Amino acid sequence: MVIFKESQTITHYLDQLRAAGQTIGFVPTMGAIHAGHLSLVKEARKATDTVVCSIFVNPTQFNDPEDLKKYPVRTAEDIGLLTDGGTDILFLPTLAEIYPEGYHQLETYPFGTLEHKLEGAFRPGHFQGVAQVVARLLKTIHPDILFMGQKDFQQTLIIKELLNFVKVNTKLVVCPILRESDGLAMSSRNVRLSPDARKRAPLIQEELKKIKEGFLIRPLDQLIREAKDKLGKNGFAVEYLVVTDEKLNLVKGPQPGTLICLVAARIAGIRLIDNIILDPVGGDHH
Ligand code: AMP
Repeated sequence: MVIFKESQTITHYLDQLRAAGQTIGFVPTMGAIHAGHLSLVKEARKATDTVVCSIFVNPTQFNDPEDLKKYPVRTAEDIGLLTDGGTDILFLPTLAEIYPEGYHQLETYPFGTLEHKLEGAFRPGHFQGVAQVVARLLKTIHPDILFMGQKDFQQTLIIKELLNFVKVNTKLVVCPILRESDGLAMSSRNVRLSPDARKRAPLIQEELKKIKEGFLIRPLDQLIREAKDKLGKNGFAVEYLVVTDEKLNLVKGPQPGTLICLVAARIAGIRLIDNIILDPVGGDHH
């Protein structure tokens, strides 16, 4: 795996590969690499000739300074995992490399209401921060395909919009959520869970699955109330637990089109998110 720290150098290197006919897949991360990240690398390996990952803990997307301070940094281990996972190139920029002009008067993008819903409501400014860093990374890497996880569902909607604003010829591929054997969605923040919180954390997915199973046969408001109660009784502070259409508009019950159940909850101070796609109304149950 080749490691680059400077934007100019990696851009030049990738230009040469592109000129030689190679397609480029890109997996941006904030490090503390886990199997979920590596599943994106694997998808990129299958679909493109050269796989580029980045590790950059982007300060502009953290609305909570404590969360930023405590974000796990494990670069040496990450390099080993990404190498074994089939990454060809790692971009490891410094803060100054991404934000040479500092954080003042950064660009903003017109995402409309999408950026203020769900995650946006609980993490003000988060999605502008995500967009600022992803736009800069896209302009540096110019990937043919960008690989992102369904785990951050709202983020994938924001990035789809961003791709219309940033003049790069990049396609977005959204990859499924990788889970621990007990169902907890993999996340870099999971290492911060206390042993007790870690034991309880799989309840999030269990409740999502119950909603998926009951959705076509029981009133949705009742299902959501039960799930929130169960989580609350088990030490979770639920921020939101909703069923929406694919544009994040709340729905009241089954309706045609893709529907998704999304949740954010804190346990012992750690914020976890997860989601599940519901079976289509009148469709097959796979
Ligand atoms: P992060 O390092 O948390 O910013 O995540 C980098 C990328 O990995 C994002 O596109 C995430 O959606 C994706 N990702 C994070 N966790 C998982 C997971 N459990 N399964 C699949 N993809 C994931």
